[in-house]
Amino acid sequence: MNDIEAIRKTIRRLESRSIIPFDEDADEVVGIAIQGLEKQIPKEPIYIGIESEACPVCLNCLKSGQRFCENCGQRLEW
Ligand SMILES: [Zn+2]
Repeated sequence: MNDIEAIRKTIRRLESRSIIPFDEDADEVVGIAIQGLEKQIPKEPIYIGIESEACPVCLNCLKSGQRFCENCGQRLEW
């Protein structure tokens, strides 16, 4: 199992509640955990012009080859 498969499996477990944090704010904790894990799954930058790309999540302008968006933390795959 590679990192991405492990992240996807963990997200599925969190969504199905087979992993349940026992706090009164469990729904919020699970939501935040899923958002953070989803950002570790690489996404391709969006082409917005000649030699200009943006983050596919927050549309922050990126420098070529950047591995993570400095604004939202999305992992990038060029
Ligand atoms: Zn971003």
